[in-house]
Amino acid sequence: MDFDDTPDEAAWRESVRSFITAHRDELGHRGARNGRDDVPAAKASQACMFDGGFVGVTWPVEYGGQGGTPMQQAIVDQEMARAGVPSLINLIGIGMCGPTVIAHGSDDQKQRYLQRLLRSDDIWCQLFSEPASGSDLAALRTKAVQDDNGDWHVTGQKVWTTGAQIADYGILLTRTNPDVAKHKGLTMFVVDMHAPGVTVRPLRQMSGGADFNEVFFDDVVIPDSERLGDVDNGWRVALTTLMSERLSLGGGGTDIGVGIDAVIEHSANRLSSLSSDQQALARQELGRAYVASLGIRYTGYRQLSAISRGESPGPEASAGKLAGTVASRAMASYAVRLLGQEGVFARTADGSDTWQHLEAVLPGMAIAGGTDQVLRNVLGERVLGLPTEPRSDKNAPVKSAPAGGQQ
Ligand SMILES: Cc1cc2nc3c(=O)[nH]c(=O)nc-3n(C[C@H](O)[C@H](O)[C@H](O)COP(=O)(O)OP(=O)(O)OC[C@H]3O[C@@H](n4cnc5c(N)ncnc54)[C@H](O)[C@@H]3O)c2cc1C
Repeated sequence: MDFDDTPDEAAWRESVRSFITAHRDELGHRGARNGRDDVPAAKASQACMFDGGFVGVTWPVEYGGQGGTPMQQAIVDQEMARAGVPSLINLIGIGMCGPTVIAHGSDDQKQRYLQRLLRSDDIWCQLFSEPASGSDLAALRTKAVQDDNGDWHVTGQKVWTTGAQIADYGILLTRTNPDVAKHKGLTMFVVDMHAPGVTVRPLRQMSGGADFNEVFFDDVVIPDSERLGDVDNGWRVALTTLMSERLSLGGGGTDIGVGIDAVIEHSANRLSSLSSDQQALARQELGRAYVASLGIRYTGYRQLSAISRGESPGPEASAGKLAGTVASRAMASYAVRLLGQEGVFARTADGSDTWQHLEAVLPGMAIAGGTDQVLRNVLGERVLGLPTEPRSDKNAPVKSAPAGGQQ
């Protein structure tokens, strides 16, 4: 693994930097809450990066991508973070929904959806989790039944759907056969979020935002042409999404929510106001955070190097996500403690409340895309080779499971 840019990577980095410098005003600035707060501005920012050729870098050229390398994508992410450019608004679409359509969609679906998704003309969401099916996703019950014309009728409820309140389309995992083992009777669709029968209800979070939603489907009609993959083969399609999700959350050598450089800068401004005892403790904490941060970054680079060699991401991607979440939470918590009394304010007059906001938002990262506990299971079983946990319901038909809970 070589940490220095190759000449090609250095040239690419330079082109990203000069584009960002030239379009600074159109791109806007990263703040504690940007993203879904000002949708038109966030869409304009993503469209600007797309027009520059810096969105969906690894996607095929025919769908609006650049046919580039994961390393080039990582360089774009690093340069956007370094320059304080807001994150793309359609990250779920780019990181999870798009790769699923590319892998399992029809040619017609690819032509209709993919380029618009990259430009953020359409926003996408991922409709998997239900009130009783999160970690045990395959136990889901939202049902899709086909009528004589071939259309599907969907009834049920999803929950924690990030961005559903602004989404135009979603990838929707449904139960099409309750008589077979839970992984075998699922089917995936693209759903129009503006279709009759779709109701989106935002859920308020402790950060003050309302980014996730409950989504209700009341006899929503989906044409068969919007199916992704074969009937009852939705688990295979969902695995593509979940693998892309874990990679987009845990890989690439970028930080999850909190960058160590920002923590160091924040500390430098605050350390002098502390007593010498407190300073010694703060330095220890900063040292630990720095070491953890480097470990995560280099593990991400190792993963990127493997992908660049054409290898598929393995279960080790879970380690990056798990370690990133734990370290980010520790760093945000340390940064808030350094603020002293000011740390108790959720909003400050001068807007310098990034750390408080992060501390309220980051616990969600320990759940989204696989909880810490579930990822530890994945690492134990598939990386360390420990005995697997008992799964008594694996082959039982879903209709025999008690409603509303795992077996
Ligand atoms: C910020 C955020 C964004 C999200 N965005 C989306 C989205 O866009 N679309 C979507 O579909 N979903 C989304 N989710 C939902 C997320 O995928 C689920 O919350 C997650 O899978 C956990 O499922 P659950 O909430 O049902 O918890 P449960 O699965 O009920 O777990 C409850 C507790 O039990 C533990 N547990 C469960 N099973 C095991 C096990 N086998 N071994 C050890 N411990 C276990 C868990 O770790 C957890 O602590 C989001 C969640 C968050 C927090």
